[in-house]
Amino acid sequence: MTRTKRLFEPLLPGKVKLYACGPTVYGDPHIGNFRSFVSADLLRRWLDYRGYDVTMIVNVTDIDDKTIRDSAKAGEPIKGFTQKYTRSFLRGLDLLNIRRASAYPRATEYIPQMLDFIQQLLDKGAAYVAEDGVYFDIDKNPNYGHLSGMDLKQVQTTERMAKDEYDKENAQDFALWKKSTVEELERNNIEPGLSWDSPWGKGRPGWHIECSVMTRDLLGDTLDIHAGGEDLVFPHHTNEIAQSETLTGKQFVRYWVHIRHLMINGKKMSKSLGNYVSFDEVLARYSADSFRYFYLSTHYRRPLDYTDDAMKSAEGSAKRLENTLDLIDAALKSPDSNLDINQREQKLLNELEKQGTAFEEAMDDDLDSHTALDILHAISGAINEYLTDPPNKGVALRAHILYKKFLNALGLFEKRSGGSDDLTNKLIKTMIEMRNQFRKEKNYAKADEIRNKLVTIGVILADSGSETNWKIEKQKSS
Ligand SMILES: [Zn+2]
Repeated sequence: MTRTKRLFEPLLPGKVKLYACGPTVYGDPHIGNFRSFVSADLLRRWLDYRGYDVTMIVNVTDIDDKTIRDSAKAGEPIKGFTQKYTRSFLRGLDLLNIRRASAYPRATEYIPQMLDFIQQLLDKGAAYVAEDGVYFDIDKNPNYGHLSGMDLKQVQTTERMAKDEYDKENAQDFALWKKSTVEELERNNIEPGLSWDSPWGKGRPGWHIECSVMTRDLLGDTLDIHAGGEDLVFPHHTNEIAQSETLTGKQFVRYWVHIRHLMINGKKMSKSLGNYVSFDEVLARYSADSFRYFYLSTHYRRPLDYTDDAMKSAEGSAKRLENTLDLIDAALKSPDSNLDINQREQKLLNELEKQGTAFEEAMDDDLDSHTALDILHAISGAINEYLTDPPNKGVALRAHILYKKFLNALGLFEKRSGGSDDLTNKLIKTMIEMRNQFRKEKNYAKADEIRNKLVTIGVILADSGSETNWKIEKQKSS
């Protein structure tokens, strides 16, 4: 909002109310979406690290233009369709080691609260009823567009916008409630979940109202931090502010955090350009930790380009950091021959203290994960060097604890890979065969259930063509 870096102070001491815009569940989330989710997770982890009591809410948009359109295209009831992609989103979170939020409310669970919210905006004269729905009147909101730096005097606002997404050039009154089309009503008769009764006719909410309603219900009138992708600044976040501040008369968000979108080989990723890279495609080739490292390697507000070279480089760097964990594990199992604290020990302890302070300073400075990773490499190098001679085990253990603490703050190697024996291999193959059978029978719910259950025990399936590969990603190292 101020376009400056400001000192963070929560509304209530020690507590942080954090809201991040979640996915619209009309397809598998792509690697661009996950830059935003990983960055929000990094923010949450750092607040956790600093001892804040964080309540984090991430919404799931399960009713909007796109979910209606694509579920119809797929010939599936919208409820099952959106549930399938909600599961896919949650699976992605687990695979990328994203700490679960306090709740993932869905838009369709909040219809009564939305009706109430819209009625209050109407009562205040900030909205009006049109033939196809209820609209927010942006002319009645003097601060409209401030977040995106738009000058409202320069834009025409006599038009109305029924679509959920539109360009910055088209600042227009936006839909709070959309009356169902004849087509939607017919569909709703067969498979309910598309249209709800309201004082303004049967219909469904616009996209923007859901975040204003859920944040208020779960976090109160004022949020400490609202995060989301930069593409949401306008119209989505702009409209959230207008709705919420008009209703409550209070500041809606104290700090905005916007995450730069991910590029693919220097271009914006889009299905039409044919440069779409799926999440599973990346995970079939690289470990989840390498993938997460790639996201963290660049500050969240800076451009990040997905290329094979960048991924290979991230993989190499991640492996170097993980190798130090292997070295420490081996050292801690070796015989205790060094019982002294000599110059070598003291040198390592001093280095750990110095670099530890630098790590915290980097992360405190607007989550500078790029610098934080550089510092972790310095720590890793110092530990490796120390371990070339028989270590004092007490010192090695202290190094281990500190190193793990920093890795955990970034969400790296929390679940370390482990080997698998013959029986495990056979069991996993059996599970994959069962899943493929369910898929053949088009029982995708059961097929997904098997895949998700395997994820929770650390087995990742990656489909490429008709083949299913698998690997063990995590084995709790505790
Ligand atoms: Zn939102």
